[in-house]
Amino acid sequence: MKKRILLFSLLITIVGIVLITLLYTGIFWRSGIADSERYLAVYADVAEAELNEGGVSQRQAVAVSQRLGGVRITVTDAAAVIVADSADEGLIGSSRADRPEFSAAMESGEGSTVRESVTLRTDMVYYCRAVFVGGQTLYLRLGVETASVFAVLGDALPTVLLCLALDILCCFLFSWIATDAVLRPVEALTREAALSGGRQVQTKYKELQPVAKLMNEMTAEIEDKVRRMREDRRMESLVLDNMEHGIVIFRDAEDVILINRTASRFLDYDTQGSLAAFAGEAEVAAVLAARESATLTRIRGGRDYSLRFTFHENTCVLLITDVTESAAAARSKNEFIANVTHEMNTPLTSIRGFAELMAAGTLSPDRAQAAAKTIIKQSDRLANLVKSIINFSQIDSDELPDETVDLSELVREAASAFEPKLHKRNISFDLEAEEGVKVRSRRERLLEIVNNLISNGIRYNRDGGSLTVTLTGGEEPVFTVRDTGIGIAEEDKERIFDRFYTVDKSHGGGGGGFGLGLAIVKKLCRRAGWVLSVESKLGEGTAFSVHFTRREA
Ligand code: ADP
Repeated sequence: MKKRILLFSLLITIVGIVLITLLYTGIFWRSGIADSERYLAVYADVAEAELNEGGVSQRQAVAVSQRLGGVRITVTDAAAVIVADSADEGLIGSSRADRPEFSAAMESGEGSTVRESVTLRTDMVYYCRAVFVGGQTLYLRLGVETASVFAVLGDALPTVLLCLALDILCCFLFSWIATDAVLRPVEALTREAALSGGRQVQTKYKELQPVAKLMNEMTAEIEDKVRRMREDRRMESLVLDNMEHGIVIFRDAEDVILINRTASRFLDYDTQGSLAAFAGEAEVAAVLAARESATLTRIRGGRDYSLRFTFHENTCVLLITDVTESAAAARSKNEFIANVTHEMNTPLTSIRGFAELMAAGTLSPDRAQAAAKTIIKQSDRLANLVKSIINFSQIDSDELPDETVDLSELVREAASAFEPKLHKRNISFDLEAEEGVKVRSRRERLLEIVNNLISNGIRYNRDGGSLTVTLTGGEEPVFTVRDTGIGIAEEDKERIFDRFYTVDKSHGGGGGGFGLGLAIVKKLCRRAGWVLSVESKLGEGTAFSVHFTRREA
């Protein structure tokens, strides 16, 4: 900056000095010429008088010239032919009509010019005038040597150069002092800003106050941005570290760009400080070498994980997800399909077998009738199975409870429908239901629970046994079905609520259920927030209870 200011001021002053020198040289030269012309005009008066007195001759011209300090005197006749010339006698007789000073004098009586003398080879100022000497008109020309413009300039050059040297020195000094005076406050302000550590900077110089204000605004803005960036980073790491998914972004095993806590724990990155061991596993190494998106699975601590690799140029993003639940759901779905297929297969085989027998036409009418009855029975069983499956799967899409149901009334109605069956099995039935017990639920779902439990109480009872259904009200109504039947072994107690689980597998193709009843009851209770419990002793009997914990009157 200092250098530029110095160069700039130097340039300006040098150009200025040169221009002024040229201008003054011109003016000085012109005024010299004007002076010469003026005194030549005066000398012309003197010369005219001398010629009038002494006559026109070469000698007289030289004498006048000497008297006038060596001024060149040229006298011509009216046609501008030289009659006498103090500078060169040999010019007598030659014409000067072509010289501008003569042509001007011949035209207007006098004329002057500045030019190089052809005779003397020097720059001359000529003044020419028409004079009347000895009764005839002559032309008298006076010439004096003058310096050329370049000569004048040459004379001034040492002074100009001295001025230039002084000017350069002054410029150096001035620009040094000026730039120092201007830049020192700026430098001080910059230093203060650099050391301020985000504090506001101030200056006593009015001119720099807008700069300081701007700096303070920029500092505040930068600080705000940095603060927001820090917050974003904190937020990012908070989210990343608390994510249940593991995420790793890396270029290679030693160049890990980002790894969150879950991934670090999963890959043991904290202790190893590198992904070398993981990247070295054959399957992983193959994926990394191929650099194509892929998903691997791993089982750690009894849980299933999916490892999703995606590649973006030279960077790999690995997403680790705990898929235990979805894997279990997939397994359960497969199991469910296998169970359904199995349960369907039994009645279908039976139907097909009897139908083939009938088709062969070899059965007696009595046996054919029995076969037809079996086909009908198995078809009903198949239809029931399909109904139960549909029912089971619909529970998930059930709407929330939206009805206040009189449970006392519902239990009484449901129980009465079982009377024929109870009678058939000679089972004594006891109903102890409090009046006016109300539950908020969907009526058909409640009926399903009650029917399933009573139905099981009869089915797994012994002939001549007893069945007791109780319903108590209060804050938390409880519905219980207690039988004196076969009971459930301790090891089966948990599993009876599983889909398609039946304790006695032999009843599969007979009159027993499909093992869906209790699964439906459990699912309904869980959705409603009720508690289903079982008490049982093998060979003595079983009691199922539903605790309606979300009762609303
Ligand atoms: P199912 O249609 O086979 O009865 P459930 O889901 O209702 O299916 O019952 C599952 C299994 O639980 C039954 O196969 C049976 O072995 C056992 N079980 C259910 N209720 C009783 C009960 N009251 N007494 C003894 N065992 C029972």
